[in-house]
This record gives sequence, C-alpha cells and structure tokens, in this order.
Amino acid sequence: MLRGWLPQGKIAAVCFSIDDIHPGTSQDAYEAGGDLTRGALGRMLDLQRRHPELKLTLCVTPDWRLKSLVPDTHLLRRIPWLRERVHWTRLHPPGHFRLDRYPQLVSCLNGLERCEIVPHGLHHCHRGPRFAVEFQDESIDQCAAKVEQGLSIFSAAKVAFVPGYVPPAWNAPSALIAALGRCGFRFLCSARDLNTPIAPDAVTSMSGLAGVSLIYPEFVGQPRLVHLSCNFQATSPYERAFDILELGGVLHIKAHIFKAGGGHVMQDGLDADYCAYLDRLFCRIKQRFGDALWWPHLSEVAERARLAA
Ligand SMILES: [Zn+2]
Repeated sequence: MLRGWLPQGKIAAVCFSIDDIHPGTSQDAYEAGGDLTRGALGRMLDLQRRHPELKLTLCVTPDWRLKSLVPDTHLLRRIPWLRERVHWTRLHPPGHFRLDRYPQLVSCLNGLERCEIVPHGLHHCHRGPRFAVEFQDESIDQCAAKVEQGLSIFSAAKVAFVPGYVPPAWNAPSALIAALGRCGFRFLCSARDLNTPIAPDAVTSMSGLAGVSLIYPEFVGQPRLVHLSCNFQATSPYERAFDILELGGVLHIKAHIFKAGGGHVMQDGLDADYCAYLDRLFCRIKQRFGDALWWPHLSEVAERARLAA
C-alpha cells in the first residue's frame, strides 16, 4: 500500500467524478451538459455552492454517438457471426456531437471553477452486444489511435483537460493501459466496486479492472499510471463513505450526468435526489472529520501519489 500521498494534516480524501458529459440537450435522448447551467451542470454547481471544498472531475466524451443505452430488436443480432459485427443500438452519425461544433458548451466547461476535465472515450460505443464498452479487443495501436482521435477533437475544440483517462463502462484492457502510457497519460480510473466490504487490503471485483486497491491509489501498467477506483454512488450507504475515510482512503464518488433517457435509467444519475443525498453526506462527513479531510481533484491525488512513490 502506497503511503505519504496525503498532504500534511489530512487523513483522507474526497473526490467526485461525473461521466458521460457531452452536448446532448433536453431536446435529445440525454441532457448531458448541453443545456449548460440551466440543466444538469447547474445542479452540479448548486452542490458546489453548498460545499465550496468540493472539486469535480468531469469525464467528457469527444464525439458521443449513442442515441440509446438499450439494444434495439434488429434481427441481425440473432445471427451468430454477425451479432458481434453490427451495432446493437441506434447511433448518431459521427460528428453529430463532436465537441468542436459546440463552442458554447466548451467555453462553459472550461470556465467552471473547481472543475477539471478528462476524456471519457471517443464515441462511447462499440459493435456487438457490449455496445457502450468502447475498448474491448483492440490492439495497443488501435487503442492509441482512438485515444489520439479524441485528443485531437479536444484540441480542435480547445478543451482544457488534465492527463487522466476514464474509459467508457470502466473497461480498460491491458492494450488500452499501454496505449495511455504511450500517449502521455498519468492517471486512470477504470474500476468501480460498490459491493466489496471496505478494508485496507480490499481489491476491486465488480466493473472494469479487477484486483486493484478499492480505496488507495495504486500504480498500473508500464509506463506507470496512477489508478484510482470508484467506490461510492447514489445507492451506497453513508457508512461505506465513513469506513473509507476512517481508513485514510480516497472516497471516490461517481455520478452520471443524466438520470434517464433513451429507455434507460441510471442509478447514479445526477438528479435532484442524488444531489440532496450528497449534500447530506458532505454535511455529515464534514461534521465528523472537519478540516482533516482533503477535497482534491483526481489529478491532484495522482500527482501526490507519484511524488510519494
Ligand atoms: Zn460513460
């Protein structure tokens, strides 16, 4: 277990990351930031106003294509050879939600205080049944090409971002991890585990990378990236957060920017109820731990972890 990554006087960290931000508005399947501060981003800012310590990591998809998160019923899905080679759900054409076509959203995101941005895939889709899992069996070169394509869209759109990566659906096969190291990334969040009991040596076994620390920063890949697991969401009891903080870990809370749309409901969608739940959680942990809590960006934890190592 890595030690010495917390700043002096701090006993644990609280991080919050939000996935799937893209230009979709309330007129589309998902309002995913496109309504700017009148929509989900506004709820997020209200929460930050109530808790000025809170910093956010916004996971933004450069060219989102999913119109729905449920499969359609096309007959091709039933043909064994074809089922892996066709799209299982309706997609927007490439470029429809490409960030450089939405300068207002980009300037809104770039201008948010106490928010950092990381890439969240390229299109957030894939052929075959695991249609939201963008990185699956690709080679290192293929992964690197997708990552670079996302970065060139960020660059064309002038998105200010930090060198961390949150792959869609938490899935980071070893080829992607190698590609991220090659592309200069410094940290990665590719595991979510809401079930494993909190303990110093607990490791992840739910979504994404298995066997990495559930509550502490850890190094993966070569060149090394700092890995930070996600361990809390709307359905998690407050006690889980207390346990992580008592053990000096990173409480890494996850939300998705939209709650429902395209025939699908997100358990951790950032609606008013989830914001109220988090508001109460933050009040309680501040009451209990006070100034001993550190409220960093994920990138700050990663950089402290690199220094400590
Ligand atoms: Zn996602």
